[in-house]
Amino acid sequence: MLKTLKIRTLLFVFNGLLLAAGFTVLLFVCLWSLESTSVEQTEANLASFTHSLAKIIPSDEETADSFIKDLTHSDGALRITLIKQDGSVAADSVSNPKEMENHSFRHEVQQALAGKEASSIHESSTNGKRFMYYAIPLDSNKNFAALRISMPVEETVFFSSSTKNTFVASTIILFIIVLVFSFSISNKTVQPIFLMKKATEEYSKGNFDFRLNISSPREMAELADSFNSMTQTITKNIQSLKKLEQIRKDFVANVSHELKTPITSIKGFAETLIDGGMNDEQTSKHFLGIINTQCDRLINIIEDLLTLSRIETDNGILETARINLVQIAEKACQSLEAPAREKNIEINFSPCRKNIFIQGNPGLLEQVITNLIDNSVKYCPEGSLVSCRVSEDSGKATIIVEDNGNGIPEEYRDRIFERFYRVDKGRSRENGGTGLGLSIARHIVNIHRGTIKETGRPDKIQGAHFEIILPL
Ligand code: ADP
Repeated sequence: MLKTLKIRTLLFVFNGLLLAAGFTVLLFVCLWSLESTSVEQTEANLASFTHSLAKIIPSDEETADSFIKDLTHSDGALRITLIKQDGSVAADSVSNPKEMENHSFRHEVQQALAGKEASSIHESSTNGKRFMYYAIPLDSNKNFAALRISMPVEETVFFSSSTKNTFVASTIILFIIVLVFSFSISNKTVQPIFLMKKATEEYSKGNFDFRLNISSPREMAELADSFNSMTQTITKNIQSLKKLEQIRKDFVANVSHELKTPITSIKGFAETLIDGGMNDEQTSKHFLGIINTQCDRLINIIEDLLTLSRIETDNGILETARINLVQIAEKACQSLEAPAREKNIEINFSPCRKNIFIQGNPGLLEQVITNLIDNSVKYCPEGSLVSCRVSEDSGKATIIVEDNGNGIPEEYRDRIFERFYRVDKGRSRENGGTGLGLSIARHIVNIHRGTIKETGRPDKIQGAHFEIILPL
């Protein structure tokens, strides 16, 4: 059953039970200690009165009897009894001593007859009320052996039932007040838990904008802060996941589009050939040539996509070796000499020294430099000049690929590194471009912890200026 109770109810029930037990114990302890104090005081008063009275008791039985009867009131609040050595009553303020039973069996009387003062509390056989009895030995008086005085204990202030009731009632009122306070404190304590419950409900609905505002108690405030920073992180992660998802969607759309263009062209020319185009040898050759070019284009796109995918998969587990960057750049320049020659383009390779060693992947870095020089050869007009410089300075190697072609307008300088982005789509296709070359280059440089950018030529001459910086 406890499991199904709400925390607030649970706290209330437990607090209530605990307080009730506490107050009951407190009440009993108070009553007990007040009663015992009261008994002690009454006893002391009674003792002193008994001693005073002993001094003025007449020695004659009859005179003593009427003396004590005169001394006390008829309401019986105070009762005085004189007892002989044999325990029989010699005089009594209330009854006729002759008719009274022998008192030698009474504890306090026994003690007094034995010469000791004593007191006791017990019910009176005459009226059933509780009385305190105090008896002292009377050595000086030959007729009487002991003097006993009694009074009802209920008469004392703490034993009066109305006082007791007032006391109990006040305790109950105090208990209720404390219980109400305790309830409101428990309520305040569990309030943050309810807020947190509400927060988790909101989060499960996907509302991560919900913020917890709890200032106390400190632990709860800290927990609320943790909740808030957790949702902030989740929100950021969701945003970046959405962004990644968008990139993925764009990529798939771009790939499909890029693949579709050559395939459509291949299909178109193949159909034309089937529909009779083959009859003319000249046309057939021309169309088959186009089909071949489109196939090359498809192969280029797929190869570039595979390279991109491989770099992304291998990200972080790059196989590296100590390599000479000068040699690698030279190899890249040499590999493009033939197409450059076709366009009468000169590739000028000028390293600042013979060896510049870095830790890197030779194949991938060669691909980066090849892509840049290849672009220059592709996009520069005939007779242009392409230069590749490699240098080393303050712990980093710099590779610069520069040409004096049309260059890249400032607004596209960042975008050309995006997948499939081309400044001039037509020209790129014409030249067999896939739009992935620079994206691949940036990926490779990034996994080498380097940077790549296009800044335009610093000497203000028209043309492209790519700068790669790699840590040594
Ligand atoms: P592509 O396969 O189209 O060459 P890249 O990613 O290599 O793709 O280059 C992206 C675009 O950047 C190219 O389409 C081209 O418009 C532009 N570009 C790259 N290099 C040069 C350059 N040297 N001169 C002029 N434009 C360039």
